[in-house]
Amino acid sequence: MSRILLKSAAVAFGSVAVSLLLTLIIVPAMGFPVTRTIWLTSTVCPLALAWIACASTFWQSDRLKGAHRDLARAHAQLAAAHRRLSEKASRDDMTGMLNRESFFAALDGSRRKSDRGALLIIDADHFKAINDSFGHLTGDDALLLIASAIERGVRSGDVLGRIGGEEFGAFLVGATGAEARRVAERIRREVELIRFRPVDERTVPLTVSIGGITCGEDANVSELMRAADLRLYEAKHRGRNLSILDRDISEAA
Ligand code: GH3
Ligand code: MG
Ligand code: MG
Repeated sequence: MSRILLKSAAVAFGSVAVSLLLTLIIVPAMGFPVTRTIWLTSTVCPLALAWIACASTFWQSDRLKGAHRDLARAHAQLAAAHRRLSEKASRDDMTGMLNRESFFAALDGSRRKSDRGALLIIDADHFKAINDSFGHLTGDDALLLIASAIERGVRSGDVLGRIGGEEFGAFLVGATGAEARRVAERIRREVELIRFRPVDERTVPLTVSIGGITCGEDANVSELMRAADLRLYEAKHRGRNLSILDRDISEAA
């Protein structure tokens, strides 16, 4: 407020100075004497008018600046809320992994940046039997344990998604065939090591089957999915708790 008053006063005194200067040039040039009334008029009028006009203009511009700041703050809050919402919309509620759509979008994005990498599809074995024996809620607990085991099995920077009910996808960024095989086996083993005890001390085994493919230079996402799916099917067919990548088979211990 005091800034507005100061600025208004500065403009008002400037106006008085200009008004006096003009009066001192024009009035004598017209042949009139510069009387006290003329002095007074040329001082008081600009002082009063300019001061009020400036104070109102500066006050409004100050309010506009304040409103602009509020708008910028609201805009930043909205952008943050939007980021949080789209982050939440891209995640699977239960496991916190990317959902199917976002996983494939991320996979597509990674493929555009680099040719190298491997795709794994990980499917829980005989999961229907877990639900049938212990109920759906206990099945959810088992699914969460499997999701955590998968997270422990991958490397940092790998992309994970829940691409179906009891099916997960892992894109191993930049992985060679040998690295992908190692990661797939580590995941399989981590799941196998889970001690799942839904009712009493008895441990109910949890296992996954994994199909994987290392990326060819020009293979698109659906071709990679089809190839990994074929290997997953083969792993199921050969008895489950197995990972099959490219043409190799690593048997369960
Ligand atoms: P396979 O080894 O051939 O994969 O056998 P499976 O029983 O795992 O496969 P199937 O496709 O017959 O059944 C999948 C089961 O996974 C059935 C479905 O109810 C269960 N399932 C899928 N999503 C969820 C979930 O979010 N929570 C629970 N508890 N169960 C789920
Ligand atoms: Mg299954
Ligand atoms: Mg399945």
